[in-house]
Amino acid sequence: KPATQSDSIAVIGLGRFGGAVAESLMRLGHEVLGIDANGELVQKWSDRLTHVVQADATDAEALRQLGMNHIQHAVVGIGSDIEASVLTVLALEELGVRDIWAKATGTRHGLILERTGARHVVHPEAAMGERVAHLVTGKMMDFL
Ligand code: ATP
Repeated sequence: KPATQSDSIAVIGLGRFGGAVAESLMRLGHEVLGIDANGELVQKWSDRLTHVVQADATDAEALRQLGMNHIQHAVVGIGSDIEASVLTVLALEELGVRDIWAKATGTRHGLILERTGARHVVHPEAAMGERVAHLVTGKMMDFL
């Protein structure tokens, strides 16, 4: 099946989290559209992703001009700016993006993202903390 635009994945916010997601998606063979408001980060990622664009993702019209209304999958890696995170998810939902993943910085931020239209909410610190606890537990056996 030939790749179409609807198969590509938008990653919005190319910080530590979004950057890692985008890089891994490329390695897995996907087409990735990276979006960030920060020109330096756009430069940094410009030759590592399929397309990289500098834009304010809270601006639904700007996202439409980038063709986001034809994209099905988006990952929002904006975290510490809760307002920007929520407004970006809302804009994506308005544009009809069906599969929205979003990073939350806390439980109630996550609830807002779900109610705004995110299908999947990720809590990186909580998830990694849980995973490390399991890893530590597993390695404890080595000391017996
Ligand atoms: P990380 O821990 O993943 O580095 P963070 O939780 O500190 O990120 P932020 O600094 O809030 O998250 O945002 C991550 C990225 O999102 C930054 O590169 C920032 O430039 C970008 N970003 C923030 N607001 C917007 C916006 N309105 N439009 C596009 N990109 C944005």
